[in-house]
Amino acid sequence: IGFFAILLFTTVSAFSQSGVKVERIKEVESLLEKMTLEEKVGQMAQITLDKFRESADPVKLDEEKLREGLVKYKIGSILNTMKNRARTPEEWHYIISTIQEVATEETRLGIPVVYGIDAIHGTTYTAGATLFPQQIGMAATWNRELVRNGAEISAYETRASSIPWNFSPVLDMGRDPRWPRIWETFGEDVYLTSEMGMQMVKGYEGKDNDVDDPTHVASCLKHFLGYGVPFSGKDRTPAWIPEMELRERHLPSFEAAIDAGAHSIMVNSGLINGIPTHADHYLLTEVLKGELGFQGVVVTDWADIGNLHGRDHVARTQKEAVKLAVNAGIDMSMIPYTFEFCDRLVELVNEGEVPMSRINDAVRRILNMKYKLGLFDTPVTDYKDYPKFGSDEFEQVAYNSAKESITLLKNKDKVLPLSKEVKVLVTGPNANTMRPLNGGWSYSWQGELVDEFTEEYSTILEAIQSKIGKENVTYVPGVEYDLSTKKYNVEIPGDLEQVTAAAADVDYIILAIGENSYTEKPGDLHSLRLSENQIELAKTAIATGKPVIAVLNEGRPRVIGEFVSDLDGLLQAYLPGNMGGLAVADVLFGDVNPSGKLPYTYPMHVNTLMTYDYKPSEHQKKMAGMYDYESDFAIQFPFGYGLSYTEFEYSDLQLSTNNLSGDETLKISVKVTNSGDRKGKEVVQLYTSDLYASITPDVKRLRRFEKIEIEPGESQTVSFELTAKDLAFVNRKLNKVTEPGEFEVTVGGLKEKFEYTK
Ligand code: BGC
Repeated sequence: IGFFAILLFTTVSAFSQSGVKVERIKEVESLLEKMTLEEKVGQMAQITLDKFRESADPVKLDEEKLREGLVKYKIGSILNTMKNRARTPEEWHYIISTIQEVATEETRLGIPVVYGIDAIHGTTYTAGATLFPQQIGMAATWNRELVRNGAEISAYETRASSIPWNFSPVLDMGRDPRWPRIWETFGEDVYLTSEMGMQMVKGYEGKDNDVDDPTHVASCLKHFLGYGVPFSGKDRTPAWIPEMELRERHLPSFEAAIDAGAHSIMVNSGLINGIPTHADHYLLTEVLKGELGFQGVVVTDWADIGNLHGRDHVARTQKEAVKLAVNAGIDMSMIPYTFEFCDRLVELVNEGEVPMSRINDAVRRILNMKYKLGLFDTPVTDYKDYPKFGSDEFEQVAYNSAKESITLLKNKDKVLPLSKEVKVLVTGPNANTMRPLNGGWSYSWQGELVDEFTEEYSTILEAIQSKIGKENVTYVPGVEYDLSTKKYNVEIPGDLEQVTAAAADVDYIILAIGENSYTEKPGDLHSLRLSENQIELAKTAIATGKPVIAVLNEGRPRVIGEFVSDLDGLLQAYLPGNMGGLAVADVLFGDVNPSGKLPYTYPMHVNTLMTYDYKPSEHQKKMAGMYDYESDFAIQFPFGYGLSYTEFEYSDLQLSTNNLSGDETLKISVKVTNSGDRKGKEVVQLYTSDLYASITPDVKRLRRFEKIEIEPGESQTVSFELTAKDLAFVNRKLNKVTEPGEFEVTVGGLKEKFEYTK
């Protein structure tokens, strides 16, 4: 009976699910039939909230302007605003209900607006929400569960703010540390990015992508495709990426997230190989919608249709730009301030320059997302239904994420953890401000307003003070960020003699250095080297002869090669969010055993930017027996690196076969022993190397990882499975192939070979 009941239940629920789908398709189609061209085009437009605000007031809307947008231009979407501070859930409720009232009651068809926001490390635009480490820190946890859980909480708190659509995750590859958005990525590796991206999509959308659940939001993958590696290293500048490389390293993370059901995707603002992605029919329509079968909404990035004319010069007029972009496959235009897009698109359709079928395809996708989000039934949620908003339970997850992200890079003579019976000097521009802990997109666009929302949280200095007692902590800033300017990298040098003098009475110096927060272009750099002032400060601290422990709090790996060898301890904290100060202090004083691992290669020299998956010739040891080139390729710390307060030993690497053929599964196991005296977490990383192939293979590639926790003296056996598909690469003909031949598996320094035959 049980079996039949289960069978009946699954059949009924499968039927009802497909029934719901059929109903939705019918509703979308019948709505489409009723819509005028102007109504359709309006759905394809997204305007910033700034356009509808009463100028002086941060919250109040100008209802006349709103009516112009929603009733006259029939626009279908609104997005977050940059000129503003975070709002409380109550304020968001007022804003969204005002918008939805006009949209659903005063427009002919009553179609709700879909509001989108960048809640990229927690619900960043809502005061009181839970803020997590930025994505680069989440990647450093190598902990899938934390990434998913963080996204679940962000979805809940974003919906509590009545917002159903989140422009996150970033799936661009963080392979160039000069790029100012690297901290928004999961780092340099294809597999790590794909795994974390999938978790984030599932966290936002729910395991069945049931985004009508009012605790889920629609995710938006960005920025399709190849945005992360501009040739100049500067944001929104051209990239040159051969299609082989695009498919090998940039496409997989998007493909995985699309397979995970993501509802929308945002387009790369830049050019690839001279072609603005917003005008690239091949990438947007043939690859994305065709080959990858993407069914969701393709939205532009900020003002990027206009850029086809004004910046990129592929369209002679704004109107031609609209034509190019829509025909290339854009479904929604993020057009910050004007309604011109709507007028031009109507003309273009009437003139036969944009086919009606293209408009219908775009609007179908948008309406479908609105239906799926349940906006027709529930256009506004009530924050009172979200009792867990900003709760301790959520904060604990943010704390756990921060503590697992922190990466111990150096620990000379086991200087760390420090005893709590010590006196310390805390110095550095990152010691006593919340702004760089949170980084960009926090409470305001570039995160410059952070301090007014973060009083209840501890800076690194405050956390150290509460750990060992204020009387044992001396604070001399040494260098400060100039918070009176919007430019993030303006520093005020302090009195270094004061640092030297203060060091005389302490046991240790804690040097909190790195970067202030920034977002996008303002974060472009002249040099990846840490600022001159901070290098001077570090050298002053070192010259005192006291042991120096540096804490890096930075969005990208700034080069510290000039003094790193003189440090005793070094922690990378990335941009750990509101709980970052506490987490740093807990690691410094041993209440937490660090377990983060670098999600990128830390460069030693500004002209040696490497990734771990390089080609052999990128790291030649000797050339023609003449020179030793080793130092030319030197890096500071490798990808995947991170120390612990305990030790892990690897043994017993076993392969189920040394002859893998066809689509057989290769089972791999390894024993990991905690040989130290503290409980600790370890990230077991499995790499493969293709020894010879028809194109030069990368020296190694990450294929699997697992984070485990082991008690001192105990061992765990970790097992992985691989098939030939996992070993594939993109060949000259752009096909993904696994060529027969010899491969090597590496786990924790152990190596084993196997042969693959077709
Ligand atoms: C960024 C996007 C973001 C959008 C909306 C753009 O400047 O490139 O990542 O989603 O603004 O805020």
